[in-house]
Amino acid sequence: MPAASPTGRRRLLLHVCCALCASKALTALRRDEPEVWDITLYWANPNIHPLIEWRRRLKAVRMLADRERLPLLETGTGGDSGYGLTPFARAIGGRENRPDRCGICYALRMDATAQAAKEGGFNAFSTTLFTSPWQDHARLKVAAERAAAATGVPLAYRDWRTEPENRAMTAGLYRQQTCGCVWSEFDRYAPTTLHVWPPPPPRPRPQSQP
Ligand code: SF4
Repeated sequence: MPAASPTGRRRLLLHVCCALCASKALTALRRDEPEVWDITLYWANPNIHPLIEWRRRLKAVRMLADRERLPLLETGTGGDSGYGLTPFARAIGGRENRPDRCGICYALRMDATAQAAKEGGFNAFSTTLFTSPWQDHARLKVAAERAAAATGVPLAYRDWRTEPENRAMTAGLYRQQTCGCVWSEFDRYAPTTLHVWPPPPPRPRPQSQP
């Protein structure tokens, strides 16, 4: 039984993949559905590696929650306890190619969010992943719908893929370069030479004319 909100609005648990996508979803929700939701952000992302990257993205989400005066729930018991490389790798085990790994990744995060919404008495759950044109939107939607059916918590499905980032909301926040997992990091950098060390020597400056 969902717990009543003191404002009379419905309580939404919004899974947040990163601060940048959160800015899109929050902007759309406030513009298109004013006075409908009391929003609580939820950080559940065992797919983000390595640890420093996970810390940076979580820090950005905490800063955004603070700026927007929104409550934020996190997996784990504080510190780095929510970092999920080991359980994530075990869940993926042997299916590390796309699209299989992404389907497992979506299911892990949507199941965790729907379960947390159920335990917290929320009226519905959703995810900022619905903002991203880089995600497999159809596969993500199926994972979210399955999580809703398994828990009985309604999914607030929205297609926010055309919503632009709210730059005022994200000013100064960390901007990630990969989707999150170690395999996405490989996909991002394998075609580049960004890893080269030592860096190539600087090019000689052109001689100035006498
Ligand atoms: S590429 Fe992104 S969605 Fe796919 S498994 Fe990795 S972190 Fe998850």
